Amino acid sequence: MGAHSPSSTTNTQKLDAIVVGAGVAGLCQLHRLREMGLNVLGIEAGSDVGGTWYWNRYPGARFDSQTEVYQYWFSEELNKKWGGPKERFAPQPDTEKWLQFVADELDLRRSYRFNTRVESAHFDESTNRWKVTTDKGDVFDTQFFVSCAGMLSAPMADLFPGQKTFRGKLFHTSRWPKEGVELAGKRVGVVGVGATGMQVIQTIASQVGHLTVFVLNPNFSIPIRNPKYTDAERQAILDRFGELKGQVNATFAGFDYDFANGSWHDATPEQRRAVYEKLWADGSLAMWIGSYPEVFSERAANDDISAFAREKMRERLQNRADLIETLVPMDHGFGMRRVPLENGYLEAFLRPNVTAVNCHKTGITEIVPEGVKTSDGKVHELDILILATGFDAGTGALTRMDIRGRAGRSLKEDWGKEIRTTMGLQVHGYPNLFTTGAPLAPAAALCNMTTCLQQQANWIADTIGYMRDHDLKVMEPTAEKEDAWVKHHDEIANATLLTKTNSWYMGSNVPGKPRRLLSYAGGVNTYKAACDEVKAGGYQGFELA
Ligand code: NAP
Repeated sequence: MGAHSPSSTTNTQKLDAIVVGAGVAGLCQLHRLREMGLNVLGIEAGSDVGGTWYWNRYPGARFDSQTEVYQYWFSEELNKKWGGPKERFAPQPDTEKWLQFVADELDLRRSYRFNTRVESAHFDESTNRWKVTTDKGDVFDTQFFVSCAGMLSAPMADLFPGQKTFRGKLFHTSRWPKEGVELAGKRVGVVGVGATGMQVIQTIASQVGHLTVFVLNPNFSIPIRNPKYTDAERQAILDRFGELKGQVNATFAGFDYDFANGSWHDATPEQRRAVYEKLWADGSLAMWIGSYPEVFSERAANDDISAFAREKMRERLQNRADLIETLVPMDHGFGMRRVPLENGYLEAFLRPNVTAVNCHKTGITEIVPEGVKTSDGKVHELDILILATGFDAGTGALTRMDIRGRAGRSLKEDWGKEIRTTMGLQVHGYPNLFTTGAPLAPAAALCNMTTCLQQQANWIADTIGYMRDHDLKVMEPTAEKEDAWVKHHDEIANATLLTKTNSWYMGSNVPGKPRRLLSYAGGVNTYKAACDEVKAGGYQGFELA
């Protein structure tokens, strides 16, 4: 047993695989492995399935992928039985219900241990197996350790000095109480104007007594168009199951649309404007990942679409200079950070009961018992403070577990120096550790999550199946393979403007986090082809023993 392995206890349970997480990826992963006959256990910190959609129950939570492509593709029957989407972009309760339905239908809960958090996973080189411990005192001995713990699941919740002294109620959006929070008439503060903050702000502005929004760097946003579907439309979507399944795996970002307007260079200014107007009116992320590919790589193209988006935002703010200065982004170009869809977010600031605090002028210095203190010495008195302050993306879910590979090496320490993976699926030095939603694979930043997560979960299941068929016990990418993937990833990333922008995509929201684009930017389709090639080629670059 390795020097850093947790001590063994007599009640150690032997397993083939542990899957961490009961979200979109975890449910699919567990289902596949169980169907293959593995003795698999799911471990989930929440009290039920849902993952992102279990934790993020804050007011206004809704996703930005069209419901018809936010699906599981492994069973048309299941898809039909659920009955198809009710509206174009589903709210959190619907998505949570959908995942509960899937868990019911596939009887997945019996393989899960809920209300349980993995504390450590240590690879034992003498047995080629993982010892996994939990906060409930369990010790498991498993061949495979598969993390489906989420790309955006480790909250940045402890940010300001004095948080514990606050006399009111303080919540991070991803830890919103199930019973809800009484907001009516209250003095409420929101920190953060990312995709989450925008949804919270637009939803609660009309309910609260007064809303104070603390804005550091504002973000671009697109007004959502979210029609309800008629029965006929729902049926038409259900009938397109096979077609949609094919499309999402063939596009750049895992949606059923792609860049379809040719080159930005070949278009006249009028033609470009017409494309922007059409996509803007569509009210979807097609405005972001469906206009011109040059928007991601060339300054002139990006400046062009950014100017268009800023013009739209200024109009919505009724050209009020104070609000424009605080809420219209000038520090980065359109699409270089995640562009949220929203519904009345900017208009909320026109309300008399909403105040925007420009944190570049007066930043938050501390939380005091009465509220939030800013650098001008002012205390913004509050009853409730909502932190919409995001996540330690990609790495956080894994580094918050004590994961140790060969010779006791620590993933937290390794990634504290440099964030590296092999295709986001494995890490050199950590045999039989498999990951979904991990760095250097396409994920939330540049992908419709259900597409990428299922593709990764399927690759992992197929790979474990291959190992079993060939009586192979252990698999690990070589250092050379990992170097090659990191180099390829960086080449593509550095050809974009994404790496020149501060965002959670680059880890810049977490103090001290090494800088690297977390998501693979070569396209979901390209990535899938690379994964398929590895599989078809007998796993070159991976050591199998
Ligand atoms: P986020 O995009 O990281 O936003 C965090 C916000 O907190 C930013 O505005 C950030 O400002 C602010 N902040 C952090 N520290 C601060 C400080 N000291 N003072 C003032 N402001 C501070 O997190 P998120 O909004 O939770 O979204 C994360 C991702 O989750 C999204 O990009 C998206 O991929 C996903 N998501 C999707 C949906 C959807 O599908 N509709 C909804 C929610 C989330 P700075 O940027 O200036 O640091």
